[in-house]
Amino acid sequence: MRNKKVLIALLSIGMLIAVIRIAMIFVNYEKEQNQKKEDYFKQNFFAMDTYMSVQVYGKNAQKNVEKAIAEIERLDALLSTGKEDSEVSQINQNGGGKLSIDTGNLMDRAKYLYSESDGAFDISIYPVMKAWGFADKDYHVPEERVLREALSKVSMDRIRVSVDKEVTLPAGTEIDFGGIAKGYTADRVAGILKANGVESAMLDLGGNVQLIGKKPDGSDWKIAIQNPDGSDHYLGVVKTADKAIVTSGGYERNFTQDGVTYHHIIDPKTGYPVQNGLVSVTIVSADGTMADGLSTTLFVMGQERATEYWRQHSSEFDFVMYREDGTLWITSGLKDCFSSEFEINEIE
Ligand code: AMP
Ligand code: MG
Repeated sequence: MRNKKVLIALLSIGMLIAVIRIAMIFVNYEKEQNQKKEDYFKQNFFAMDTYMSVQVYGKNAQKNVEKAIAEIERLDALLSTGKEDSEVSQINQNGGGKLSIDTGNLMDRAKYLYSESDGAFDISIYPVMKAWGFADKDYHVPEERVLREALSKVSMDRIRVSVDKEVTLPAGTEIDFGGIAKGYTADRVAGILKANGVESAMLDLGGNVQLIGKKPDGSDWKIAIQNPDGSDHYLGVVKTADKAIVTSGGYERNFTQDGVTYHHIIDPKTGYPVQNGLVSVTIVSADGTMADGLSTTLFVMGQERATEYWRQHSSEFDFVMYREDGTLWITSGLKDCFSSEFEINEIE
């Protein structure tokens, strides 16, 4: 009888221990799962008039994604021409004003690109963007007189910036950082993430891809370059790390009137959408601001001038160029990291 009681007591203790063990396994599993969730976080959102996504690996992934999005929203509020109270809109309305650190940086980069490209890149293009309805999405071909008037306001030469970053615009001149803002934003966000210890992340700011480090398993990222026809038939894939990959093309924003398609990248010499046989230009560079600025600039320059420019700056960036005649061109720095189903023409 006594032995039976002891046996039951022992069995009960054994069962209790087993239950505690099982409970602990569950707790540990939960902890592990939470840890894993912490190790990776991705968020899709809409900002700067486009769909974006930020994905971050490592500790505090979610918090770091939140920091990235906060910075994007801060810069959107500062740089947007569509928001009446943004710094850029205020400068445009008042014919000038004090540049903040960010708009000051962007102005410097924009002036550099303007002079390097002999005016192909010109942020004072905004009156012309408005004339075509790209500013308020009321797209239409402008009357010749209206276009000429708008074009007469375009020239970065006439924008004055004093040493203490006070900018003055001539009457009617307005600025638009649209060709470079997303790249600058990507650079800024990458800086913030790195300062917070992030070693692996990918930002996709509406086609402006910025990579931080390599993938968590130590391999390169594979970034597909979209085919402008919208199909899954990519132009190619770039295998790289720690770089920006930025594409400009007329297919990104355009409208059709009387059977003719007009897009949003304007030749400042004519006031008309660029028509030079190019469909898209993709820049690969360690510098996100440069990648974005140059994608627009080289698209305006056309293949010959773009190639000439690359030959003078081949240590700073590479490009992939897709033409209306169906040919695909890459600069030699990409030859070991670019693959494509297209026939590849190499530029040296
Ligand atoms: P992206 O998509 O980076 O090529 O930028 C295109 C945007 O840049 C347009 O929507 C305009 O806001 C602006 N833009 C258009 N033409 C020019 C130009 N020639 N120089 C500078 N910015 C331009
Ligand atoms: Mg650009």
